[in-house]
Amino acid sequence: MGRFEIPEGWVAQAYRFALDPTPAQQRALASHAGGARFAHNHMLALVTAVLDQRAAERSYGLTDADLTPSLGWSLPALRKTWNQRKSVYAPWWGANSKEAYNTGLDSLARGLDAWTTSRNGERVGKAVGFPRFKTARSRRSVRFTTGTLRVEPDRHHVSLPRVGRIKTHESTRKLARRIESESARILSATVSQDSSGRWHCSFQTLVAAKTRPAHASRSQCPVVGVDVGVKADSLLVVATPDGTEVQRIRAPKSLSAAQARLRVLQRKAARQHGPYDPAIRSRRRHSKRWAKTQARIGRSHARAAAIRRDVLHKATTTLAQQHRVVVVETLNATGMRAAGGAYKKGLNRALADAALAEVRRMLTYKAAWYGSAVVAADRFFPSSKTCSGCGGRKPNLTLAERTYVCAQCGVSIDRDRNAAINLARLGQTHMVGEQSSAGSGSVAGRGAIRETGPARAGQAGGREASTRHNPTRVDQTGTAVSQEATA
Ligand SMILES: [Zn+2]
Repeated sequence: MGRFEIPEGWVAQAYRFALDPTPAQQRALASHAGGARFAHNHMLALVTAVLDQRAAERSYGLTDADLTPSLGWSLPALRKTWNQRKSVYAPWWGANSKEAYNTGLDSLARGLDAWTTSRNGERVGKAVGFPRFKTARSRRSVRFTTGTLRVEPDRHHVSLPRVGRIKTHESTRKLARRIESESARILSATVSQDSSGRWHCSFQTLVAAKTRPAHASRSQCPVVGVDVGVKADSLLVVATPDGTEVQRIRAPKSLSAAQARLRVLQRKAARQHGPYDPAIRSRRRHSKRWAKTQARIGRSHARAAAIRRDVLHKATTTLAQQHRVVVVETLNATGMRAAGGAYKKGLNRALADAALAEVRRMLTYKAAWYGSAVVAADRFFPSSKTCSGCGGRKPNLTLAERTYVCAQCGVSIDRDRNAAINLARLGQTHMVGEQSSAGSGSVAGRGAIRETGPARAGQAGGREASTRHNPTRVDQTGTAVSQEATA
């Protein structure tokens, strides 16, 4: 599949807005997402049937020329076959925009391509399985690539083909301003429903390359290390190689509250009549109350994620603007969960993994915007287990130990700060390497992987989410939730 080339001086960026569709629009969106699912499943069934038929015919000894003709797996080929079949198998197809079916066919084409390349060994990473049918529980989503895709000038509506003008839950000014000044162009729009049931519209756009704003002065510390933590009092700890703690970002109370609420709800769901009966080890019909709790869990998840994303966006923007080199840890998600004892499991671990991945993703594209560099410590770099005082190691440090006490030099230091200092020192070696090689390729220090170089803005792909959390709002269960401003 040919990739779209981004013109010089522009960057790809997504803008995501929560929507407040009317009930009729909600039905239209659900219908479009359903159309996408139908087209995907219908064509997947056909692809499988043709594969099986050909395999059976081959087993009877038919020559390749006599076999049932194979089906094209590319998007244009799938689309052609779908168009020939739709009036028979989906006589209602006219109810939705053709983009709905295209969404389903596109995901199928990608899935088949991923499976083929993975099977032929042309694809790095984990083996990809054969595409599966989408179920009613699959994420509802539809992508529009043609027709009216607009952010309305009133900054509170978006326009989509067929569905029309939908009210947004938040202001669209960030994107609207850029479109008005002709520094952004909309390529496509994806509308999808999150676990809380809310619909979002994400515009994929091209924006004129960003530069570091004049007011964002470079900090005194060119190199910093960032430790991404689990505890509420140290979501992010930023330190310099000489041991100064530059910044410590705490989780806002609203985030701790949302997470606490999530735990309560999950315990509650466990006591209810769920879809699995442990006594006889089989599926059963779940109770209405269980389903209700699940819906509340979904909303809590979405809310916690929105708050966390907001905090991390603010923090990573500042980091990318103020420092020349930012060092973060790398996480090998599969490896980390597979190995290690009980302390690596559970909600906290999952949250920390997600936060680290998010921080690294955000920093990577923002660093490219603002001309700084991100260095990722390789996954064996023992940032927490090394003493920042003498360089000694403590291999069996547990997550419960919040303070690093060194047996060799006697230093006693906050665990996260210790890790951040070690990471910052890794960045220092990186910078020295860069200067000695005078810009011609990077000589990263031991254990470092260079993630982004400065000023390669043309290749950055980022996304600016703007799902705000208001100081006080009433959540969907009717309880007033009060929040404090971001620490
Ligand atoms: Zn020591």
